[in-house]
Amino acid sequence: MTANSTFIPPERTLMGPGPSDVAPRVLNAMSRSTLGHLDPLFIELMDETKSLLQYAFRTKNALTMPISAPGSAGMEACFVNLLEPGDKAIVCINGVFGQRMVENVTRCGAQAVVIEDTWGQQTDLNKVEAALKANPDAKVLAFVHAETSTGVRNDAKALCALAQQYDCLSIVDAVTSLGGIDVDVDGWGIDAIYSGSQKCLSCVPGLSPVSFSDKAVDVIQQRKHPVQSWFLDMNLIVGYWGQGGKRAYHHTAPVNSIYALHESLVMLKEEGLENAWARHQQGHEKLAQGLAKIGLSMAVDESYRLPQLNAVSIPDGVDDAEVRSRLLNDFNLEIGAGLGALAGKVWRIGLMGYACKDRNIDHCVASLAKVLR
Ligand SMILES: *Cc1c(COP(=O)(O)O)cnc(C)c1O
Repeated sequence: MTANSTFIPPERTLMGPGPSDVAPRVLNAMSRSTLGHLDPLFIELMDETKSLLQYAFRTKNALTMPISAPGSAGMEACFVNLLEPGDKAIVCINGVFGQRMVENVTRCGAQAVVIEDTWGQQTDLNKVEAALKANPDAKVLAFVHAETSTGVRNDAKALCALAQQYDCLSIVDAVTSLGGIDVDVDGWGIDAIYSGSQKCLSCVPGLSPVSFSDKAVDVIQQRKHPVQSWFLDMNLIVGYWGQGGKRAYHHTAPVNSIYALHESLVMLKEEGLENAWARHQQGHEKLAQGLAKIGLSMAVDESYRLPQLNAVSIPDGVDDAEVRSRLLNDFNLEIGAGLGALAGKVWRIGLMGYACKDRNIDHCVASLAKVLR
């Protein structure tokens, strides 16, 4: 690689925690001519993208749109808009991303009540209910639906039901769940949710779809303090992404990335949400069977395992980093390392979106078999 020449990346197979393989259709969409970001045709595309996101999130929420930044910005958008200084939020932690939520809460000047569960296990609903009872003044219950750091699915439906029962707004991290497993914003009564473009949507990184319920929008409009982030203030963003013909400049949307997101959502709709979930489940089963044949086992209990993020136990005596670097260098295959408490103990094999297909699964199992031999 030299500094003054065109960069041509190798063709890797991305089976880590994200980004995932991007479909050629999506890459092609991205390379089309850039339109002005207030061009009427681009505004039409924004509207279509919003309605495709409503389909993906299973919601009628009017405030459903992509934030022009990665999943972490979607997370921040939910917290900075719903929390004010002095508010209280209950946050469930059973992995890396729950911890980041706590960081967001405290930086809003709010108080976090933390519920911790072991990494690799589900958030305990009894503990959540006890915390809701003990903190009747809590405004928000926040949790991660698909904990990418561990491969655990939290029970989003039951957690949202608890939030409603105790009159809390729910904030849900669906960065890895959207498009891979069921996410039912209206059915479960989710108030604020964020996702990411580069996981099961298999789009390029850098966009964060979000959706806010009408109840959440009321809360945002009636804030006492202005949102401390100008860029993420939904009261301002709606002037650009919101309903109606008149759109005011807020920032320049990443026009070509929106083409890509739109195309990835068209692909999701063509396939159908239910079919996409089934494909992820079948891919997971095929992977687990293939890994079992070469002596590898899954680290997370089957009843709450994520099909799209497979935590695989690293056998004793195997050099984690060396295996991953050989997969990358000899087989052009990326898998993820364990994080935090699970570093060195698990590999994280992603089967996200376009990357969840038989050819990739066979390639992954065969390459791992060769490297481990
Ligand atoms: C990847 C991920 C994020 C952060 O998304 P970025 O696009 O990397 O900012 C947040 N939450 C979960 C569960 C994730 O998997």
